[in-house]
Amino acid sequence: MSVDRYVADQRDRLLTELFDFLRIPSVSTDTARAPDVREAATFSAAALRRAGLEAEIHDTPGHPVVTARGPHVPGAPRVLIYGHYDVQPAEPLELWHGDPFEPRFEDGVIIARGASDDKGQVYAHVKGVEALLALDGALPVNLGFLIEGEEEIGSPNLGAFVEQHAQALAADVVVISDGAMVAPGIPTITYGLRGLTYVTVRVRGAGRDLHSGAYGGGVPNALEAMARLLAGLKDDAGRVAVAGFYDDVRDLSDEERAAIAAVPIDEAAFRADAGVGATPGEAGYALLERLWARPTLDVNGLSGGFQGAGAKTVIAAEAMAKVSCRLVPDQDPRDVLAKLTRHLRTQAPEGIDVEVQAEGLGYPAMTPLEAPSVAAAQAALREVWGREPVFARSGGSIPIVADFQRLLGAEPLLIGFGQEDDRAHAPNEKFAVDDYLQGVRVSAALLRALGGAWAAGGPDA
Ligand SMILES: [Zn+2]
Repeated sequence: MSVDRYVADQRDRLLTELFDFLRIPSVSTDTARAPDVREAATFSAAALRRAGLEAEIHDTPGHPVVTARGPHVPGAPRVLIYGHYDVQPAEPLELWHGDPFEPRFEDGVIIARGASDDKGQVYAHVKGVEALLALDGALPVNLGFLIEGEEEIGSPNLGAFVEQHAQALAADVVVISDGAMVAPGIPTITYGLRGLTYVTVRVRGAGRDLHSGAYGGGVPNALEAMARLLAGLKDDAGRVAVAGFYDDVRDLSDEERAAIAAVPIDEAAFRADAGVGATPGEAGYALLERLWARPTLDVNGLSGGFQGAGAKTVIAAEAMAKVSCRLVPDQDPRDVLAKLTRHLRTQAPEGIDVEVQAEGLGYPAMTPLEAPSVAAAQAALREVWGREPVFARSGGSIPIVADFQRLLGAEPLLIGFGQEDDRAHAPNEKFAVDDYLQGVRVSAALLRALGGAWAAGGPDA
């Protein structure tokens, strides 16, 4: 029997089981939900066992990690499938058309918190593996699963877990389906993720707030200093003005620029969706190049001084800003932090103290396009979708992906089954039934293709 036939025969069960998974309110940030989060781990492990794998639940200082393993296949590549069973909070509840944890169908889509991010996508892989074991009685690769429960809170314990279990988790390829295709029906391989340097900046000009009548004209103004500092972070061409910021940026090759130019993007729809009248950015680069492949800097928050109604004649002692940089290979988030800190300190006006505190650092990641896993993914997507996949980068960050590369030696393979408009993290999150079932087919085809990619002289050979 073909995988296609299996999916058609088992369709109702595949959906019923996913609905059971979606009913568990595994909101990782909510401590009151910790038992539900654990229940989702237990559910994941049971599903992996039912599919025919050996599964384990590992306690961490936070929420549990679930791992699973298939039978050993000599000479075949080691493939690790990563996903997460935790979800974002559902609030604001009044914007949902129903209970976020009571999944339902609406015009061919499943509506529930976690439907797309990431329960539906990771469950598609569980079912793809189940199909292969049911049909073939064996797997074409040495398969592992790693399903965590803290992705939505920044994976605080996963790096240490991966480091401790590096030998057991070691893989040639780590498959991640926790994202979107560039458009419905267009299979997509995402080969680049941006990194992140996120800081809080505090600027201090005086020991206390001062009367602007008594002191104005004779003291440093923290708010003005902050405004100048932030405005000075970019030049008129939209380039980041921090000295050395672009030093380690890998240039876009002509081939890559051509590939990005071939990705269908409707700039008018992009502007309409974002509610913006223009798409400003670094001069000399197309919109998708700026979103995916160029580093950026954005002010994310700004506060200080008198915020109440009416007037208060005061020179505020302090101002605060949040600033984030999205990074690309081969930038190092720690190096960017040092350069940004130095820039802000040296540019600070006389009498102004600047304090920079790191809030989050993540390395960018990139899959080498010549990797055999990429050709295998291309073949699998072509087979299932009947059309060539497109290659995309993502402007977002998944810091653990760089850890997988560094600690496990695994090439990342990001194949999102969802859509950009699945409303991940937002009310009425959705996942198309067809995208889910297609995900099951892609998972099975991908594992077969990966097995074949190394068959003629595997990584062990
Ligand atoms: Zn996710």
